[in-house]
Amino acid sequence: MNDQLKDDYDVAVVGGGAAGLNGALMLARSRRSVAVIDSGAPRNAPAAGVHGLLARDGMDPAELLERGRAEVRHYGGHVAAGEVICVWRDRDAFAVGLADGRAVRARRILVAAGLVDELPDIPGLAQRWGNDVVHCPYCHGWEVRDRAIGVLATGPMAVHQALLFRQLSPSVVLLSHTQPPPAGEQAEQLAARGIRVVEGEVAAVETAEDRIAGLRMTDGRLIAREVVAVGTRMRARAGFLAGLGLHPVAHPMGMGEYIPADTDGRTEVDGVWVAGNTTDLLAQVGAAAAAGAAAGARINADLITEDTRLAVEAYRVPFSAESEARLREQAAGGARHGLDGLARHAEREEPGALDRSGRA
Ligand SMILES: Cc1cc2nc3c(=O)[nH]c(=O)nc-3n(C[C@H](O)[C@H](O)[C@H](O)COP(=O)(O)OP(=O)(O)OC[C@H]3O[C@@H](n4cnc5c(N)ncnc54)[C@H](O)[C@@H]3O)c2cc1C
Repeated sequence: MNDQLKDDYDVAVVGGGAAGLNGALMLARSRRSVAVIDSGAPRNAPAAGVHGLLARDGMDPAELLERGRAEVRHYGGHVAAGEVICVWRDRDAFAVGLADGRAVRARRILVAAGLVDELPDIPGLAQRWGNDVVHCPYCHGWEVRDRAIGVLATGPMAVHQALLFRQLSPSVVLLSHTQPPPAGEQAEQLAARGIRVVEGEVAAVETAEDRIAGLRMTDGRLIAREVVAVGTRMRARAGFLAGLGLHPVAHPMGMGEYIPADTDGRTEVDGVWVAGNTTDLLAQVGAAAAAGAAAGARINADLITEDTRLAVEAYRVPFSAESEARLREQAAGGARHGLDGLARHAEREEPGALDRSGRA
């Protein structure tokens, strides 16, 4: 995946998953110059297939993205490998700095960098993630149907998660782990659906012959299970936006941290949009792609408004100082906006954070 990056774009898209690529597709088809910069770590990389996505059900996640990149390129969009480490304002636009020292300038930013799933620190759990340690009944539920499932409680949604998995298998137990055991109505619901509650802390996930054998409790018991379902703490990947004053905030349902935005993906920072898991922690691939497409369309509309305003100004006063300055600015292009911009940003925003090559 590596297109040569230009200095200037209409839109820079941070993240080339479903959200970012669909946003870029809409923009490229609208004849916007667009660059997708992607660090190559989509959230569902450990999964064997993308499920629940109409007409693409079960497709290899890597193949889906490869097709998406080809579609963006087909319309002239650029897709480049790289990690964005900072974004800052550069006069009436933005500059985007990469870890390898490159920088691009863009009039608008679409952030579609996804999220990080934080698992409880239990030995053996992370190694099986995306295989027989799962989080989502819609992503993997059919694949684990009728198997012995242990739902590991990590927060207040654990009972809900257990009831969801009970729809898929008659053999579900809820391990309360570090959470208070369900009481009252919730305890009754679990009992009525035949979901046993195992109290006590889980010490490890044990495997045998490349399968989960069970959950070892701190008191020594082994709870035999084939599959572990666990809610992760989901944290939007957005540290590179700090220079714009845009920070992830706590999700109202206690699921993690996200970047708030309106229904179009517009953030509180003018010119910066978000789509996919960075703002919607629960979005699956289809929803992430749809949000990216919607944000791409809104960004195009926003640029049309700006282009039209500038055209009207120039039309009214063709030889004003402002319109000539703007023309000079456009002619100078990105020459001034490459590494110089990155170095200036480093000095201004984060003294000492970047060395002379722009590396952190
Ligand atoms: C194990 C697992 C299985 C799943 N299975 C399914 C399924 O079957 N069906 C389904 O619909 N959903 C599934 N999901 C959910 C799915 O992964 C998300 O819905 C989807 O990935 C969200 O797309 P996105 O574009 O928002 O983020 P991502 O797909 O995570 O893409 C974000 C991209 O941004 C890049 N990036 C991050 N930071 C930077 C940076 N600083 N600079 C440049 N690039 C950056 C990342 O490398 C990544 O490529 C699964 C999730 C998990 C964890």
